[in-house]
Amino acid sequence: MTSARPLPARYPEDVEHLDGAARGELRIPWCTRCGAAFWPPGPVCPRDFAPAPGWVGDAGTGTVSSWVRFHKSYFAGDEVPYVVVQVRLDSGPRITTTWTGAADPVVGEPVGVAFREVGRHPGGEPAVLPEFGPVDDAARQ
Ligand SMILES: [Zn+2]
Repeated sequence: MTSARPLPARYPEDVEHLDGAARGELRIPWCTRCGAAFWPPGPVCPRDFAPAPGWVGDAGTGTVSSWVRFHKSYFAGDEVPYVVVQVRLDSGPRITTTWTGAADPVVGEPVGVAFREVGRHPGGEPAVLPEFGPVDDAARQ
């Protein structure tokens, strides 16, 4: 625990997702051949290996499929404990994100997306990531 948590890297496969998050939009890759939405982003569809996936705006709703509480700080400035949740999006893929709820998540609980600026890139652009919490909390943001 000596350095600050790094900002999300802007790998070519992630730029559409990260730029969408900066606009308050959850962008998910989908296969232009078989139509499956998938996560994480990559150069090919994980079902049929079709290249050059497209992108679609996701409603950002789903249910909790798993979660874990971290008690260890890995980077300077981490506030522990914190909860990481895996969400099964209503569109199909599972995404792992930070939990925003005040109470512990419950497997099967309906959730909604929110977005949080986690820092600024060297060029000054905001680094924003999606987070999930109880659907009632997401509706208030
Ligand atoms: Zn496919």
